[in-house]
Amino acid sequence: MHRGLLMLAGLLLTMAGGIAMGQVPPIDPALLMVRPGDSPIIISAPHGGTLPVPGVPPREGVGVKKFATVRDDGTEVLAPMLAERLEKLTGKKPHLVVALFQRKCVDVNRPAGDAFESEKAKPYYEAYHAALAKARETVAAKHGRGLLIDIHGQGADKDAIFRGTNGFKTVTHLFERSGKGALLGKGGLLGELAKRERKIIPANDSDDKEDPRYGGGFIVQTYGSKGGGTVDAVQLELGAKLRRNPGREQFTTDLAESLATFAGNHLPK
Ligand SMILES: [Zn+2]
Repeated sequence: MHRGLLMLAGLLLTMAGGIAMGQVPPIDPALLMVRPGDSPIIISAPHGGTLPVPGVPPREGVGVKKFATVRDDGTEVLAPMLAERLEKLTGKKPHLVVALFQRKCVDVNRPAGDAFESEKAKPYYEAYHAALAKARETVAAKHGRGLLIDIHGQGADKDAIFRGTNGFKTVTHLFERSGKGALLGKGGLLGELAKRERKIIPANDSDDKEDPRYGGGFIVQTYGSKGGGTVDAVQLELGAKLRRNPGREQFTTDLAESLATFAGNHLPK
């Protein structure tokens, strides 16, 4: 056989082997931001992407529950800014996973069956989840426990942050270890945001239920402590004034400071 053909055959065999072994097929790295870190914090932003996935038409959503294609604009900028500021404050780099592909093509905050309609979109879904799973595994192995925050945008209240924990199920481990105050009280994540005069829904001192539209989706359900484990997860649904400039600058600082204080009080050094 011609040497070039032999090499090509070898390459194809290697690729087939890789896929058969359960590896994620290659994706365009420009469509997904993955930055591994060394802190017990994971930041995820699944819905802010602006780039189409080549060859993938917009999803139609036939029979899909909670079908949505709207973009959480600004979250794809806020998430890496937050990671940078958090690193400056704590000296540790959070793990960062940000979708730069459009939600129209793939919605990674859904179970696989509801997330994409084209085989060409599937590797992006898998790559996003592989990155989150790896980050969670690294955090648990290296630090023993940690926190994932999943950043979204909502259009219901431009100043508000809606809390999404499935009624505290995705923070089961944190509550068992440190109590409700670790999230809602002084020195807790949302407590610190309220101290900075940010509007939280439901309010930290109320017993109101989380808004069912924003109460915590597939990502926090999968990577939080709802099903066990020591990594907790909180979904934050941000109003437009918090994720668009000019408000984004100050809000990102407030969130970074709140996370740093929370980490100092409730996460391993
Ligand atoms: Zn979203």
